[in-house]
Amino acid sequence: MALIVHKYGGTSMGSTERIRNVAKRVAKWARAGHQMVVVPSAMSGETNRLLGLAKDLSPATQTPAMLRELDMIACTGEQVSVGLLALALQSEGMEAVSYNGWQVPIQTDSSYTKARIQSIDDARVRADLAAGKVVVITGFQGKDDDGNVTTLGRGGSDTSAVAIAAAMKAAECLIYTDVDGVYTTDPRVVPEARRLHTITFEEMLEMASLGSKVLQIRSVEFAGKYRVPLRVLSSFTPWDINIDEEAKSGTLITFEEDEKMEQAVVSGIAFNRDEAKVTVMGVPDKPGIAYQILGDVAEANIDVDVIIQNVSHDGKTDFSFTVHRNDYQRTMDLLKSKVQPATGAEQVIGDPKICKVSIVGIGMRSHVGVASKMFRSLSEEGINIQMISTSEIKTSVVIDEKYMELAVRALHKAFDLEESVVPVQEKS
Ligand code: ADP
Ligand code: ASP
Ligand code: MG
Repeated sequence: MALIVHKYGGTSMGSTERIRNVAKRVAKWARAGHQMVVVPSAMSGETNRLLGLAKDLSPATQTPAMLRELDMIACTGEQVSVGLLALALQSEGMEAVSYNGWQVPIQTDSSYTKARIQSIDDARVRADLAAGKVVVITGFQGKDDDGNVTTLGRGGSDTSAVAIAAAMKAAECLIYTDVDGVYTTDPRVVPEARRLHTITFEEMLEMASLGSKVLQIRSVEFAGKYRVPLRVLSSFTPWDINIDEEAKSGTLITFEEDEKMEQAVVSGIAFNRDEAKVTVMGVPDKPGIAYQILGDVAEANIDVDVIIQNVSHDGKTDFSFTVHRNDYQRTMDLLKSKVQPATGAEQVIGDPKICKVSIVGIGMRSHVGVASKMFRSLSEEGINIQMISTSEIKTSVVIDEKYMELAVRALHKAFDLEESVVPVQEKS
């Protein structure tokens, strides 16, 4: 008998019919002798609907007091889900109980709308499991030290599930979603994308941080830190498929490089449309200038991603960086009102219609020429690269948003991802 955590995403919880299916699947696992903790998201579209209502009533700039209320609103979607799922489990003849994050409690810091989990007290949950109950806990939610409700950022139910699995030392955390695993790239953009049988934790971390929203990045961080066995699989298989088969399906996030399994140099392609580019033109090229520009930006709590500084001409240079698209206007205003006068920059320009496309693979450590192959295939498509950033296992480029799909498809093909090595287990 093992303690297992299941997480079901919004689409998987999207109707009462689907919730009934989730309940049947969970009941199957419980009847097989496992202790079950289930973490569902809000029903699909619900969090957007709730935040849309809030947007109608809130002004453009959000104060901490407003962010607190956003969390009060957004967290309700998950409360409905847990209640419905517990009810459906009871209809299946299971004993089941649901909890909000604050009832567990799941303790977080007070960064409303993007809170971080600090600790989880599992005593109540353990007592329920010992009494033979299935425990259903809201994803996405926590509470801070003052008892305020917090949420963990969009996609945060993944993190709730992995954190609960880590705190309770679960045997495995299964992330059930609307695709049957992690693919070489988003299968909704490239239909030829191939499901990966395994992906290393490091690659998954890069993929998630570079825009593959199949797992929230913090969930991958938790899984890495606490060594939680993590698998992504489909909630759309028939609920009564053989449990051993189901337990081996999808994509396993591995901690060791298993060379036999995946030999591709590039394992996946991620993309992100959520960024915007800003450029401060004609700044004096002297020590301290990057700090002067980015110091003000950091002080305004704006995260900066790719940064590029050009060679100087006549003692002046151009300085570009990307920020989240939601922060674009704020960044432009700040640069124009504060940074430009302080640095004597000639001009501030921006482009919110860019995207970042990245290739990811631990094989890049031991192979040369990967980045140049990427640049060649983009040039063959006539796509201009605006910025480049690299690390040990990834290369990212910033390009015009309108070429995103073309770039992803071209790179997917160039790196042979659709015909890559057949995973060992599937050969026979
Ligand atoms: P859930 O509601 O279950 O949390 P999400 O929408 O958050 O589901 O994540 C699943 C989606 O992630 C898929 O429907 C798919 O479009 C997208 N996705 C992006 N990149 C990938 C990838 N590399 N592999 C699989 N899915 C991906
Ligand atoms: N319901 C939340 C969201 O839509 C959390 C999640 O789905 O993981 O972002
Ligand atoms: Mg998600």
